[in-house]
Amino acid sequence: MHKFYLFNSLTSKKEEFIPFNSPNVGMYTCGFTVYDHTHIGHVKKYVGDDILRRTLEFLGYKVKHVQNVTDVGHIVDDADQGEDKLEKGAKKHGLTVTQVARTFEQEFYNAMDTVNNLRPTIVQRAADDKSIKQQIELIKTLIDKEFAYITDSAVYFNVKKLPEYNPFSNQVLEDKIAGNREDLVIDEQKKSPADFTLWVFTKGIHANHVMKWESPWGTGFPGWHIECSAIGICNLGEHIDIHTGGIDHKEIHHPNEIAQNFGVTGHEVVKYWVHNNFLTVDNKKMSKSKGTMYSLKDVTKKGFSPMALRYLVIQAHYRSQLNFTWEGLQGAQNAYDKLVSSVKSLVISSSHSGASGRAAIESSYLKLFTKALSDDLNTSKALAVMWDLIGDSKVEDSIKLNLILKIDEVFGLELNQIESANVKIPSEILDLQKQYEGARAAKNYVLSDKIRDQVKDLGFEFKTTATGTEITSLN
Ligand SMILES: [Zn+2]
Repeated sequence: MHKFYLFNSLTSKKEEFIPFNSPNVGMYTCGFTVYDHTHIGHVKKYVGDDILRRTLEFLGYKVKHVQNVTDVGHIVDDADQGEDKLEKGAKKHGLTVTQVARTFEQEFYNAMDTVNNLRPTIVQRAADDKSIKQQIELIKTLIDKEFAYITDSAVYFNVKKLPEYNPFSNQVLEDKIAGNREDLVIDEQKKSPADFTLWVFTKGIHANHVMKWESPWGTGFPGWHIECSAIGICNLGEHIDIHTGGIDHKEIHHPNEIAQNFGVTGHEVVKYWVHNNFLTVDNKKMSKSKGTMYSLKDVTKKGFSPMALRYLVIQAHYRSQLNFTWEGLQGAQNAYDKLVSSVKSLVISSSHSGASGRAAIESSYLKLFTKALSDDLNTSKALAVMWDLIGDSKVEDSIKLNLILKIDEVFGLELNQIESANVKIPSEILDLQKQYEGARAAKNYVLSDKIRDQVKDLGFEFKTTATGTEITSLN
């Protein structure tokens, strides 16, 4: 297997990727909180994860990709104060909590399909009965091992029981506690302001919480962080190779997951933590009030293709901020259009020479491409390798096409659909194409005209172009 280097947020270094049980890879991705619309910032984040997964598969690993759907318990400020995002979303959109969850979950996965992200192997909702059971089990263990305690309003994780709180930052726990002291502390029985909820009782400020379940400690709902520990460990075991998420989760959500994992298992569960950077619009944070929280629909309404957006994302590195502008997207659209027309002409010219190039898939280009991706997913360099290949007149067209399609297994720019469109042309027509080209080469135009008419009767048209015969369907 080719050596693959990945930046690990735990060590702040590029490390050689060595999975626990090669060639199997367990990959966990924090999912979407399904209370509002999907925007292009989500597209950037999840395309980043998709490229990582596709790269691993390209290198020969078998990836089990698990993703949660947050449909309960995510409190507005990420910490424990305020309202559940789902309940807030339900009020805002005039729907029930379940309606709001299903509506935006569907919208999210539709958007992910549209930008050609592979669906995770397992998608699990936090509020499913199975997930609730798994979360209750984990909380039980944390209480038994004295990493958690119960007050009148919630079950809390006791962060002072940990040897280290946030491995992603140099911030010591005492500083975090001092920083939190100004906050409104709702529960006076909390041992430390940095402690976070594992289970919230539906009383006091949460008395009207719609979603609630029975637990050994009282009726309530799970805190946000426990779902990722539960769904991760229950599906991938106590040793997870990769955990991905947005860079914003380095502050609260992921340190809390690590704390829970340690409390349950006594060790680090995740080996490589991967964080995707933000998307900004016109160099500013996306803003709903300024109208810059663009959805995929906003992009397609202006005539851009979803693949142009994917191309734009791939041009940047996943750990860099991507500044979105409409001019930038136009540039990506132009490049993508050029790519599609290059592949189209390769499809046509390759149909003459048949499949002779398929055995020659290994080439220096593929090696360069693999090398770029293996360096912490250097996608912009990998794109440059593809363009060099396209411009190389010494490479036979059919070989070139096969290499590009192989490369696109990682990029996911739907270039294989250009090929499959051609495959739909019946072999009878392709045979006539050969006879037609033979007749034209022999300057037998009476015969070539006759073949062209015959093809027209069958519903197709031949057009002679600089690169060969273009076949179009008349239907
Ligand atoms: Zn998570």
